[in-house]
Amino acid sequence: CGIVGYIGPNRATDFLLEGLRRLEYRGYDSAGVVTFEEGGGLAVTKTTGRIEKLASALQATPHDGTLGIGHTRWATHGPANDANAHPHLGGDRVLALVHNGVIENYQVLRQKLTERGYVFKSDTDTEAVAHLISFELDQLLAGGIIDGLPDGDDPHRVLVEALRVATSQLRGTYGLAVVFRDYPNVILASRLGSPLVIGVGDGEHFIASDGSPLAGHTDRIVYLADHEIAVVSAGAIRVLGRDSALVTHSVEQLEIDA
Ligand code: GLU
Repeated sequence: CGIVGYIGPNRATDFLLEGLRRLEYRGYDSAGVVTFEEGGGLAVTKTTGRIEKLASALQATPHDGTLGIGHTRWATHGPANDANAHPHLGGDRVLALVHNGVIENYQVLRQKLTERGYVFKSDTDTEAVAHLISFELDQLLAGGIIDGLPDGDDPHRVLVEALRVATSQLRGTYGLAVVFRDYPNVILASRLGSPLVIGVGDGEHFIASDGSPLAGHTDRIVYLADHEIAVVSAGAIRVLGRDSALVTHSVEQLEIDA
């Protein structure tokens, strides 16, 4: 029900935990984070129940990564338990994502992906999205399809295309943040029907379901529109529209009630 993300010079879980606490008011039944760990790939910690349980788990097993995403879940598909908590891994730990919303056609997608050899570990609609993006990424990388596109020399272009092709197959609503094992300098975000904003800092960026986690970190905010895909790195944000063309966003001033 709530999404947060961080990329910059600091330990990601500091902002992620604080941000999840500030999104608590939206309601949730479980929470989790994933970070990119130097030499260790994607590290996931998730717990059922209070965010304090997640905080204790992270104290016992800290994540040092400076890129990460987090989630509070309000279960719609599958009971509230650790396996169904987000983040969900896609492919063979190729990527991890958090999702707000409901994917109406997940059963069809799950069936197709299972036939293709993907192994599901949860009952959620969300996990189908994780494997679907992984599948489309594999297709693009294997086919070299990306070469013909403008920006073919942009290493993150293939991620944008994988996300675009995958999300175009979804029926329902989503706010998504995605991190990739082999692209440790970037978070991708996209939305349709579920809110998502990006906080602009100096050499760091924040992702959140709404402005409340940003207070004290930045007052500069970009509101993502439906179907847009944001490529968020520590130093820059690029937003691409449904047609993959670059969108120029104005950075707005965040109004915070003290
Ligand atoms: N439909 C997803 C699930 O049940 C996401 C729910 C949410 O927005 O928290 O896991």
